[in-house]
Amino acid sequence: METLQNTEPIIRVDKLRIVYNQGKSNEMRALEETSVEIYPHEYVIIFGPSGCGKSTLLYSISGLQSATYGSVYVGGKELGKMTQAEQVYFHQSSIGMVFQAFYLISSLTILDNVVLPKVFRGEDPKTRKEVGQTLLRRFGIAAQGNKFPNELSGGQKQRVAIARSLVNDPEIILADEPVGNLDSESAENVLAILKDLNEVDKKTIIMVTHNPEHLAYADRVIFMKDGRVVKEEINRDKRPSTAAASKTTKPEEKFADKNSPEALELQMLMESFKNLLPKQVDILLIPFKAKQLLAHIISEMNDEQISMAEAFLKERLFNNIDAKKLAQSLDTSLEEGGGGWNSLRAQSFTKRAEAIIEQARITKESPQKGLRTLAEYLVENFHIKFTQESWPRFVELLKLRIENKMGQLELLRNLDAPVKKGGVGLNRITAEKIVREIEIIMLLKYS
Ligand code: ADP
Ligand code: MG
Repeated sequence: METLQNTEPIIRVDKLRIVYNQGKSNEMRALEETSVEIYPHEYVIIFGPSGCGKSTLLYSISGLQSATYGSVYVGGKELGKMTQAEQVYFHQSSIGMVFQAFYLISSLTILDNVVLPKVFRGEDPKTRKEVGQTLLRRFGIAAQGNKFPNELSGGQKQRVAIARSLVNDPEIILADEPVGNLDSESAENVLAILKDLNEVDKKTIIMVTHNPEHLAYADRVIFMKDGRVVKEEINRDKRPSTAAASKTTKPEEKFADKNSPEALELQMLMESFKNLLPKQVDILLIPFKAKQLLAHIISEMNDEQISMAEAFLKERLFNNIDAKKLAQSLDTSLEEGGGGWNSLRAQSFTKRAEAIIEQARITKESPQKGLRTLAEYLVENFHIKFTQESWPRFVELLKLRIENKMGQLELLRNLDAPVKKGGVGLNRITAEKIVREIEIIMLLKYS
């Protein structure tokens, strides 16, 4: 699909109606006249009760369901007017789909499931496996590549399905109740992945859900009832200004008078704090303020800078990028898809992160050698002075913690206790810093 300007909708549903079994006794009008426009890089949720036509709308956008009346355009092309060859190409390259029921093929390995869309395109086995493996790594399921679907948890299966939907790098991801079958922890994980695909990879996402807790993830929510769109709500408007002037509820409509100083103040604040939503204003404002104040004082960075950094760090931990690329990405502006940090901070952060990652790697690979280097690393980083008596105790305590024979609280007590009483005699603040450093290294080496 040719890349469109942000001023054009990537998806346009125009007076679409879907009637199942038309003219038969079991005729079902699943979608009444519906018009929807979705712009590039938007994350849109379609929300409504079971049976209201959400899946029908989604499948119409995907081309799996053809219009009874009206039309659907994707990337400027009308689906109903495509030739067979165009339809096949459209399916393979423009849209990735994720379903509640995963739809993995049980007789194929996880890796083969992921690269299946490429098999249909007749791509070279070696390259397609490489692409598949990179995706499995990104979603933390590389170790499952040679297993079969029935050996995986629900959350893992959905990550496989997401990897499969991405294998041909489509611009649009359609997800039909993707967390409907998952426990809450796996659900959060999958929702975070979709958010990441939108924010970092700039995919246009349309997710169907009937769970109101998910709504805050989206830029825009389309509410459906009885086969109709009944309302739209905007959390963050990514549409061009001409489109945004449509009939939908705008944030400032919380205030009856749109030109009131309160409405203007909220509008301005929302531009500064991208995660601030009008619905937070009543009850959730204090937690939001606390979070921002904390971030401001502790890290002097905004939410967006932090969440982009987190995304790059994730890529680094999956080994999809190297240290140099991490520093570069952090140092790139937010507008260009980077972290929006300055160069100095990007460099020093990367140096610090790499040192910790390196310690985790050494400790994991060789516990013996790891213990020595870790002890020396801590001494150097925290400028600790030891006596002949306290040094071996320090090394012994580290050993116990690394072997998981001692927890962090006991370690802290022993590091802090005076040498006379059998401790290492560090001051409390240094001891706490060291314990935190060790815990993060333990976390990174854990797999
Ligand atoms: P939702 O995803 O919101 O639960 P659907 O789009 O699946 O709703 O279904 C909308 C209505 O259309 C429902 O009443 C459903 O029973 C009906 N329906 C869905 N698919 C078909 C089909 N293939 N044939 C006949 N009726 C269908
Ligand atoms: Mg459905």
